[in-house]
Amino acid sequence: MTGLADIERHDTIVRVGETRLPTRYGEFRAVGYLDQHGDEHMAVVHGDVTGFAPLTRVHSECLTGDVFASTRCECGEQLAAALRDIVAAGAGLVIYLKGHEGRGIGLVAKLQAMRLQEEGLDTVEANVALGLPVDARSFDVAAKILDDLGVGEIRLLSNNPRKAESLRANGIRVSELVPLLVEPSPENLAYLSTKRERLGHHLPQLSSAATTSAKEAARLASAPLPFAADARDGRPITPDAV
Ligand SMILES: [Zn+2]
Repeated sequence: MTGLADIERHDTIVRVGETRLPTRYGEFRAVGYLDQHGDEHMAVVHGDVTGFAPLTRVHSECLTGDVFASTRCECGEQLAAALRDIVAAGAGLVIYLKGHEGRGIGLVAKLQAMRLQEEGLDTVEANVALGLPVDARSFDVAAKILDDLGVGEIRLLSNNPRKAESLRANGIRVSELVPLLVEPSPENLAYLSTKRERLGHHLPQLSSAATTSAKEAARLASAPLPFAADARDGRPITPDAV
Protein backbone atom coordinates (compact mmCIF):
# COMPACT_ATOMS: atom_id res chain seq x y z
CA MET A 1 0.00 0.00 0.00
CA THR A 2 1.45 3.31 -1.06
CA GLY A 3 1.10 6.22 1.33
CA LEU A 4 2.05 9.88 1.45
CA ALA A 5 5.24 9.06 3.37
CA ASP A 6 6.48 6.96 0.45
CA ILE A 7 5.79 9.77 -1.98
CA GLU A 8 7.58 12.36 0.16
CA ARG A 9 10.66 10.18 0.14
CA HIS A 10 10.68 9.95 -3.63
CA ASP A 11 9.43 13.49 -4.40
CA THR A 12 7.17 12.20 -7.13
CA ILE A 13 3.63 11.13 -7.89
CA VAL A 14 1.99 7.77 -7.36
CA ARG A 15 -0.78 6.18 -9.37
CA VAL A 16 -3.40 5.24 -6.79
CA GLY A 17 -6.41 3.97 -8.72
CA GLU A 18 -7.94 3.50 -12.12
CA THR A 19 -11.48 3.00 -13.43
CA ARG A 20 -13.72 3.30 -16.49
CA LEU A 21 -15.31 6.74 -16.74
CA PRO A 22 -18.17 6.84 -19.24
CA THR A 23 -19.20 10.49 -19.86
CA ARG A 24 -21.67 12.40 -22.02
CA TYR A 25 -18.68 13.17 -24.28
CA GLY A 26 -17.59 9.55 -24.65
CA GLU A 27 -15.76 6.72 -22.95
CA PHE A 28 -12.74 7.58 -20.80
CA ARG A 29 -10.43 5.89 -18.34
CA ALA A 30 -9.86 7.86 -15.12
CA VAL A 31 -6.49 7.41 -13.44
CA GLY A 32 -6.03 8.85 -9.94
CA TYR A 33 -2.73 10.19 -8.62
CA LEU A 34 -1.42 11.51 -5.31
CA ASP A 35 1.51 13.96 -5.27
CA GLN A 36 4.11 14.63 -2.60
CA HIS A 37 2.06 17.50 -1.15
CA GLY A 38 -0.96 15.26 -0.64
CA ASP A 39 -2.87 16.84 -3.55
CA GLU A 40 -4.99 14.50 -5.65
CA HIS A 41 -5.00 14.68 -9.46
CA MET A 42 -6.76 12.80 -12.22
CA ALA A 43 -5.87 11.88 -15.78
CA VAL A 44 -8.89 11.23 -18.00
CA VAL A 45 -7.77 9.18 -20.97
CA HIS A 46 -9.65 8.40 -24.19
CA GLY A 47 -8.31 5.67 -26.48
CA ASP A 48 -4.69 4.60 -26.79
CA VAL A 49 -2.48 7.64 -26.13
CA THR A 50 0.92 5.96 -26.56
CA GLY A 51 3.13 5.92 -29.63
CA PHE A 52 2.18 9.38 -30.97
CA ALA A 53 1.60 12.95 -29.78
CA PRO A 54 -1.98 12.89 -28.45
CA LEU A 55 -4.21 15.93 -27.94
CA THR A 56 -3.71 16.82 -24.28
CA ARG A 57 -5.40 19.33 -22.02
CA VAL A 58 -3.55 20.16 -18.80
CA HIS A 59 -6.44 21.72 -16.89
CA SER A 60 -6.16 23.69 -13.67
CA GLU A 61 -8.99 23.02 -11.24
CA CYS A 62 -11.61 25.80 -11.25
CA LEU A 63 -14.63 24.98 -9.09
CA THR A 64 -16.58 28.09 -10.11
CA GLY A 65 -16.00 27.58 -13.83
CA ASP A 66 -15.84 23.79 -14.16
CA VAL A 67 -18.73 22.87 -11.85
CA PHE A 68 -20.89 25.98 -11.52
CA ALA A 69 -20.44 27.13 -15.16
CA SER A 70 -19.37 30.60 -14.04
CA THR A 71 -19.02 33.00 -16.94
CA ARG A 72 -16.35 35.01 -15.08
CA CYS A 73 -13.72 32.79 -16.69
CA GLU A 74 -13.58 30.37 -19.62
CA CYS A 75 -12.41 27.27 -17.73
CA GLY A 76 -15.63 25.25 -17.91
CA GLU A 77 -16.09 25.85 -21.62
CA GLN A 78 -12.46 25.02 -22.30
CA LEU A 79 -12.76 21.74 -20.39
CA ALA A 80 -15.90 20.76 -22.32
CA ALA A 81 -14.30 21.75 -25.64
CA ALA A 82 -11.18 19.74 -24.82
CA LEU A 83 -13.19 16.60 -24.01
CA ARG A 84 -15.16 16.98 -27.26
CA ASP A 85 -12.01 17.57 -29.34
CA ILE A 86 -10.26 14.56 -27.78
CA VAL A 87 -13.16 12.20 -28.50
CA ALA A 88 -13.44 13.60 -32.06
CA ALA A 89 -9.71 12.93 -32.56
CA GLY A 90 -10.13 9.30 -31.42
CA ALA A 91 -7.62 9.53 -28.58
CA GLY A 92 -6.22 12.01 -26.09
CA LEU A 93 -6.28 12.97 -22.46
CA VAL A 94 -7.10 15.63 -19.88
CA ILE A 95 -4.89 15.99 -16.84
CA TYR A 96 -7.00 17.64 -14.14
CA LEU A 97 -4.75 19.34 -11.60
CA LYS A 98 -6.14 19.99 -8.15
CA GLY A 99 -4.69 22.74 -5.97
CA HIS A 100 -4.60 25.12 -8.95
CA GLU A 101 -7.60 27.30 -8.07
CA GLY A 102 -7.14 30.93 -9.07
CA ARG A 103 -3.75 30.17 -10.68
CA GLY A 104 -2.69 28.46 -7.46
CA ILE A 105 -3.93 30.87 -4.75
CA GLY A 106 -6.78 28.63 -3.58
CA LEU A 107 -10.58 28.74 -3.85
CA VAL A 108 -11.36 31.17 -1.03
CA ALA A 109 -8.60 33.60 -2.05
CA LYS A 110 -9.89 33.36 -5.62
CA LEU A 111 -13.35 34.45 -4.44
CA GLN A 112 -11.71 37.41 -2.65
CA ALA A 113 -9.81 38.25 -5.83
CA MET A 114 -13.04 38.08 -7.87
CA ARG A 115 -14.59 40.57 -5.44
CA LEU A 116 -11.64 42.93 -5.98
CA GLN A 117 -12.15 42.58 -9.73
CA GLU A 118 -15.72 43.79 -9.26
CA GLU A 119 -14.18 46.91 -7.73
CA GLY A 120 -12.10 47.54 -10.85
CA LEU A 121 -8.84 45.64 -10.37
CA ASP A 122 -7.84 43.20 -13.08
CA THR A 123 -7.07 39.52 -12.36
CA VAL A 124 -3.35 40.21 -11.97
CA GLU A 125 -3.76 43.30 -9.75
CA ALA A 126 -6.27 41.45 -7.55
CA ASN A 127 -3.80 38.68 -6.70
CA VAL A 128 -1.11 41.25 -5.96
CA ALA A 129 -3.49 43.28 -3.73
CA LEU A 130 -4.09 40.16 -1.66
CA GLY A 131 -0.34 39.64 -1.25
CA LEU A 132 -0.52 36.51 -3.38
CA PRO A 133 1.46 35.42 -6.45
CA VAL A 134 0.09 36.23 -9.91
CA ASP A 135 0.63 32.61 -10.93
CA ALA A 136 1.67 30.04 -8.33
CA ARG A 137 1.04 27.02 -10.53
CA SER A 138 3.61 24.37 -11.25
CA PHE A 139 3.10 21.91 -14.08
CA ASP A 140 5.78 19.44 -13.02
CA VAL A 141 3.07 17.12 -11.67
CA ALA A 142 1.45 17.04 -15.12
CA ALA A 143 4.79 16.10 -16.67
CA LYS A 144 5.18 13.26 -14.19
CA ILE A 145 1.67 11.98 -14.92
CA LEU A 146 2.35 12.05 -18.67
CA ASP A 147 5.56 10.12 -18.06
CA ASP A 148 3.66 7.55 -15.98
CA LEU A 149 1.15 7.10 -18.83
CA GLY A 150 3.94 6.54 -21.35
CA VAL A 151 3.29 9.85 -23.15
CA GLY A 152 6.51 11.71 -24.03
CA GLU A 153 5.16 14.07 -26.68
CA ILE A 154 1.85 15.94 -26.80
CA ARG A 155 -0.22 18.39 -28.82
CA LEU A 156 -1.21 20.78 -26.04
CA LEU A 157 -4.79 22.13 -26.01
CA SER A 158 -4.09 25.59 -24.58
CA ASN A 159 -3.74 29.28 -25.39
CA ASN A 160 -0.99 29.69 -22.80
CA PRO A 161 2.59 29.51 -24.16
CA ARG A 162 3.96 29.55 -20.59
CA LYS A 163 2.19 26.25 -19.90
CA ALA A 164 3.95 24.70 -22.90
CA GLU A 165 7.28 26.13 -21.70
CA SER A 166 6.74 24.71 -18.20
CA LEU A 167 5.98 21.25 -19.58
CA ARG A 168 9.02 21.41 -21.87
CA ALA A 169 11.19 22.40 -18.90
CA ASN A 170 9.96 19.21 -17.24
CA GLY A 171 10.95 16.97 -20.15
CA ILE A 172 7.71 16.79 -22.16
CA ARG A 173 7.94 17.48 -25.90
CA VAL A 174 5.13 19.84 -26.95
CA SER A 175 4.95 19.54 -30.72
CA GLU A 176 2.02 21.93 -31.12
CA LEU A 177 -0.04 24.45 -29.15
CA VAL A 178 -3.62 23.75 -30.27
CA PRO A 179 -5.87 26.75 -29.48
CA LEU A 180 -8.96 26.34 -27.31
CA LEU A 181 -10.90 29.46 -28.17
CA VAL A 182 -14.24 30.18 -26.54
CA GLU A 183 -16.49 33.07 -27.42
CA PRO A 184 -15.96 36.00 -25.07
CA SER A 185 -18.96 37.20 -23.09
CA PRO A 186 -19.58 40.59 -21.43
CA GLU A 187 -18.79 38.94 -18.09
CA ASN A 188 -15.37 37.59 -19.06
CA LEU A 189 -14.17 40.04 -21.71
CA ALA A 190 -12.03 42.11 -19.31
CA TYR A 191 -10.63 38.95 -17.70
CA LEU A 192 -9.69 37.44 -21.07
CA SER A 193 -8.18 40.74 -22.22
CA THR A 194 -5.96 40.79 -19.11
CA LYS A 195 -4.86 37.23 -19.83
CA ARG A 196 -3.91 38.26 -23.34
CA GLU A 197 -2.23 41.54 -22.49
CA ARG A 198 -0.56 40.76 -19.16
CA LEU A 199 -0.12 36.98 -19.14
CA GLY A 200 0.76 36.38 -22.80
CA HIS A 201 -2.17 34.14 -23.78
CA HIS A 202 -2.99 33.73 -27.48
CA LEU A 203 -6.58 34.94 -27.75
CA PRO A 204 -7.16 36.21 -31.29
CA GLN A 205 -10.95 36.02 -30.91
CA LEU A 206 -10.80 39.07 -28.63
CA SER A 207 -9.81 41.44 -31.45
CA SER A 208 -13.32 41.58 -32.85
CA ALA A 209 -14.95 41.34 -29.43
CA ALA A 210 -13.03 44.39 -28.22
CA THR A 211 -15.02 46.49 -30.66
CA THR A 212 -18.32 45.16 -29.33
CA SER A 213 -20.47 48.14 -28.43
CA ALA A 214 -21.98 48.60 -25.01
CA LYS A 215 -25.38 48.05 -26.59
CA GLU A 216 -24.27 44.72 -28.02
CA ALA A 217 -22.74 43.79 -24.65
CA ALA A 218 -26.07 44.50 -22.96
CA ARG A 219 -27.85 42.34 -25.54
CA LEU A 220 -25.41 39.47 -24.93
CA ALA A 221 -25.82 39.83 -21.16
CA SER A 222 -29.52 39.12 -21.47
CA ALA A 223 -28.98 36.14 -23.81
CA PRO A 224 -29.17 32.56 -22.48
CA LEU A 225 -26.06 31.32 -20.67
CA PRO A 226 -23.75 29.29 -22.91
CA PHE A 227 -23.99 26.31 -20.57
CA ALA A 228 -27.78 26.19 -20.40
CA ALA A 229 -28.70 22.52 -20.42
CA ASP A 230 -30.35 21.15 -23.49
CA ALA A 231 -33.75 19.88 -22.39
CA ARG A 232 -33.42 16.90 -24.72
CA ASP A 233 -30.27 15.20 -23.49
CA GLY A 234 -28.67 17.49 -20.92
CA ARG A 235 -25.69 18.31 -23.13
CA PRO A 236 -24.14 21.71 -22.53
CA ILE A 237 -24.74 24.13 -25.37
CA THR A 238 -21.58 26.04 -26.12
CA PRO A 239 -21.34 28.99 -28.50
CA ASP A 240 -19.57 26.96 -31.17
CA ALA A 241 -22.37 24.39 -31.13
CA VAL A 242 -25.23 26.81 -31.73
ZN1 LIG B 1 -11.86 29.47 -14.06
